[in-house]
Amino acid sequence: MEKNFSLRELNTFGFDIRAKYFQELKSMDDIHELIENPEFRQTHHLILSGGSNILFSSEFFDGFVVYPNLRGIETLEETDETVKIRCYCGEVWKDFVDYTISKGLYGLENLADIPGKVGAAPVQNIGAYGAEVKDAIYQVHTIDLMTGNIRIFNNDECEFSYRNSIFKKYKSIIIFAVDFILKKRGNLKLDYGNIRNYLANKNITNPTLQDVAATVKAIRAEKLPEVGVVGSVGSFFQNAIVSVDKYHEIKMLYPDMPSYPVDTAKTSFRPERSAVEKSTALIKIPSGWLIDRAGWKGYRENHVGVWDKQALVLVHYGGGKPQEILDLMKKIQDSVYNKFGIEIKPEVNII
Ligand SMILES: Cc1cc2nc3c(=O)[nH]c(=O)nc-3n(C[C@H](O)[C@H](O)[C@H](O)COP(=O)(O)OP(=O)(O)OC[C@H]3O[C@@H](n4cnc5c(N)ncnc54)[C@H](O)[C@@H]3O)c2cc1C
Repeated sequence: MEKNFSLRELNTFGFDIRAKYFQELKSMDDIHELIENPEFRQTHHLILSGGSNILFSSEFFDGFVVYPNLRGIETLEETDETVKIRCYCGEVWKDFVDYTISKGLYGLENLADIPGKVGAAPVQNIGAYGAEVKDAIYQVHTIDLMTGNIRIFNNDECEFSYRNSIFKKYKSIIIFAVDFILKKRGNLKLDYGNIRNYLANKNITNPTLQDVAATVKAIRAEKLPEVGVVGSVGSFFQNAIVSVDKYHEIKMLYPDMPSYPVDTAKTSFRPERSAVEKSTALIKIPSGWLIDRAGWKGYRENHVGVWDKQALVLVHYGGGKPQEILDLMKKIQDSVYNKFGIEIKPEVNII
């Protein structure tokens, strides 16, 4: 156990945060030892992996930071169609995705290059370019740091939804491994973001798995700040989910506003639907567009700002304090609310 430990390298915002206690866990034995540690049991704690979806609101974390870092990748089962793979929590997500692609396995290609560790991927059901990790997860292995109970959650029990899962409710459960089910043959998802255009510009008419992953990486590199160079947590806000009525109200004023039906409405967002059905359907509006239209893209105030290539991303240029990001967050939320009547919520975990 380390004391007064610097988390500067363990939060991608790059703030100079210190933790009262810090413990890396490399094995199940380490986890059991921690559970027995009276100091740990009496102290408020936080499970931290890559720190790419966390904003510490103060520069001192007055508690125990637990850093699960079990490593390893195992093939569990192979059929003609699928392969089940277990990956331990401390593996770097993007390396794991590259590994599955090198094996010719479909399922994670649109999630290439997302920062962070494998153990955190189910927590917010990471997603990008029309894909969500929930569609490739078979089951999730957990241990409760208060009781030592081991529980395996099957996919349904994870209660996955947009940037959410049951694991957001359990602050004392470590995900120590995730079992994925990947396909040997699959349909590539090209319709989200700019993937299809990007491939067309490269004269790729019949893209492979590798082409899609490479395209996703290239688009991400163009749009997002580089981890370790400019501090960020990627998308700071969740996309807005609004009723159909609200959507029409705004669309009248801003006909160019982009939108997507959300899962429940995906198959039923059709003109022939009844008035009742329509009123319960939900529409996703990209918060990046709302923030951009509210005039924030490229804004900078001292050490922090809004990324000039993607308004959903708040950035820390170095030398600043978490409070500066929190103040900027509030200003953006208020301004989007005043302009569109929509409350945008942070995607990042604020500690
Ligand atoms: C440049 C950039 C781009 C990004 N792009 C995307 C994107 O396209 N899509 C997307 O979904 N996200 C994106 N993110 C956010 C982030 O990468 C993901 O949310 C990632 O899964 C966080 O992983 P982490 O290891 O850094 O988790 P952390 O930030 O350390 O933790 C995130 C949450 O998970 C919990 N947690 C972490 N590990 C465990 C564990 N082993 N067991 C239980 N709980 C745990 C933590 O307590 C915390 O609540 C981006 C971030 C950055 C910086």
